Amino acid sequence: SAKAAGRRQWRHYRPALQTGMVERHELNEHLDSAIAESAFQLYYQPIVDLRSGDLVAFEALVRWPHDRRGMVLPDEFIALAEESGQIVPLGAWVLERAAQEVAAWHAASSAARTAAGRPPLRVNVNVSARQFRDAGFVDVVRRALAATGIDPHTLVLELTESVLMRRDDRIHADMATLSGLGVGIAIDDFGTGYSSLSYLREFPISLLKIDKSFIDGLGHSPQQYALVEGITRIADTLGVQVIAEGIEHPDQRDLLAAMGCPLGQGYLFAHPMDSPDARALVRRTSYEPV
Ligand code: C2E
Ligand code: MG
Ligand code: MG
Ligand code: MG
Repeated sequence: SAKAAGRRQWRHYRPALQTGMVERHELNEHLDSAIAESAFQLYYQPIVDLRSGDLVAFEALVRWPHDRRGMVLPDEFIALAEESGQIVPLGAWVLERAAQEVAAWHAASSAARTAAGRPPLRVNVNVSARQFRDAGFVDVVRRALAATGIDPHTLVLELTESVLMRRDDRIHADMATLSGLGVGIAIDDFGTGYSSLSYLREFPISLLKIDKSFIDGLGHSPQQYALVEGITRIADTLGVQVIAEGIEHPDQRDLLAAMGCPLGQGYLFAHPMDSPDARALVRRTSYEPV
């Protein structure tokens, strides 16, 4: 029939798109059941003080253990979950789970850390633009805090510049509410978007994460070095702490520490690890640096 021929033709001309859509549909359905069953896992990557090596925080990074695909990384499903809106329930789960985890770290380490004059460990949680714009987001944060009783100052939300680019009143209001609660706000992947330093003035930002692409060039590019040093200085003047992302080599760490960049994260220190390994590291480092 003409209909069947049409379908064949469509198939013939757009095979890639069609395959893509079927796979997308399948992935969306799998995501739905994974969300319903809380079948995700959080991994945690240490954030350290670059001078002392002291563990100060972990970034929570979502993983999806999948029967056939193995451990699926966020780059393969976060964008899709954002498009479909599934990021809203998934993100709520991430926040609650991360808050539970930091509560467990506090139970294991706060007494020793306080005795040593070190602040309680923090957890950084990634929040996507769509999730932040959702009307229920602030309540999700409130619930995670209330359910776990953690000090709000030990929760940091990592936002990308795509959230800050939209300067509407709701975003300003929500940002003010969250920072009023004591929750920290970080700009993630700084340097990859518009990278306007005016964000630091316009929003209650407490941390700036300089993207790995700048850290990669530190040792051989005077321009990259000058940029990172400049950003670190300005941030410091404004009371914003800088975290250098993706540190893989000791010379990068040394250059960053020498220019006064306070915090770092990367494979040089540790890869993201599962909850039992993170807890073991917390116990071990309550008494000594990493
Ligand atoms: P991100 O927030 O910038 O997280 C850092 C990513 O860099 C992580 O990848 C981490 O494993 C990787 N990384 C850390 N140190 C190094 C290093 O030294 N070298 C290299 N090559 N990579 C390093 P991951 O876990 O695959 O996450 C990718 C992205 O997915 C994250 O980038 C974040 O944007 C997003 N994401 C992860 N978890 C969540 C989540 O729970 N919610 C949302 N909305 N997004 C998430
Ligand atoms: Mg992040
Ligand atoms: Mg990042
Ligand atoms: Mg990054």
